Amino acid sequence: MDELREIKTFLNYPKSIVIISHRNPDGDAIGSSLALQEYLQLNRHSVKTIFPSDYPPIFSFIEGVDSSIIYDHNQEAAVKAIEQADAIFCLDFNSLERIDKMAEHVYASKAKKFLIDHHLDPEPFADYVFSDTSASSTCELVFQFIEDLGETNKINPSIGASLLTGIITDTGSFKYSTNPRTYKVASKLKEAGVDDNFIQDKIFNSIEEKQLRILGHCLANRMEILPQFKAGIIHLTKQDYQDFKIQRGETEGIVNYLLMISGIEVAAFITEQPTIVKLSLRSKGDISVQKLANNHFNGGGHKNASGGAAYAKLEDVIARFKKVLPQYI
Ligand code: 5GP
Ligand code: MN
Repeated sequence: MDELREIKTFLNYPKSIVIISHRNPDGDAIGSSLALQEYLQLNRHSVKTIFPSDYPPIFSFIEGVDSSIIYDHNQEAAVKAIEQADAIFCLDFNSLERIDKMAEHVYASKAKKFLIDHHLDPEPFADYVFSDTSASSTCELVFQFIEDLGETNKINPSIGASLLTGIITDTGSFKYSTNPRTYKVASKLKEAGVDDNFIQDKIFNSIEEKQLRILGHCLANRMEILPQFKAGIIHLTKQDYQDFKIQRGETEGIVNYLLMISGIEVAAFITEQPTIVKLSLRSKGDISVQKLANNHFNGGGHKNASGGAAYAKLEDVIARFKKVLPQYI
């Protein structure tokens, strides 16, 4: 493939490279970015990873994440790195709006832009696009990128651990969004020496007592089941955020509990943030919450996992969700 040869030539000499992933980075955003960073560093490139906002502390075990630049905390360093970059890799997002104010700097940059992503409908802003919506995760695609470059021998246990983290978090530990390649990649990572038990433990057994109490509150007091629409809703108010001192990332995964109920195929986690109301949506099978999020809540994502937001009152957002829901089931 000509494109691949071009990329190999481009990466043949040391370059200044910036890796950017999306706001509120998750395991896949963090894992794919730091895996690619370490791989590129092994090839003598100078690499900086930038996240628009801070990463959840449970991912502190990812090699190199502590030296990433957080735009919210250090705009100057982030902008400088983007301006000096010869290449910018955009990982795990499909539209520049997901990197907030950094978008204008990326847009203005003359660097070669690479997109590696698995979300639907990628925006055409990159020179090289590795987009595959059938991939479990961006980590799976970064593995493939390295494989396409003929360099899987460079995948050491720490690169492998970063990649496996994103695969595990984006598939809910191999419960959804898998394809035959997902298992092949996981198998190759284990062969490369990755300690998968360690990673599973770090990801799933590392929450604070407070988080289990927030979950308890959600399930006991904030859950509404709509059996006629095979749907469930959990909401959190601003007051809940204050009462439980909820921090970013501490409600991760709560939406999935709704889908554990037999017969429930759509789940909504709706939270009142300081200025917006955020929706986190999940579905099973053919029900597309991506369309729902895109059509009504200025959002998107994947068919079975998407998100969006609205500038409206919490109760109005919940009412709007219930009103449009029947069109999608
Ligand atoms: P989560 O519910 O875990 O925040 O996000 C689930 C999926 O929806 C993620 O893959 C994410 O990319 C996508 N997503 C979440 N929020 C938004 C949003 O506001 N806009 C868009 N376009 N996608 C979102
Ligand atoms: Mn992802």
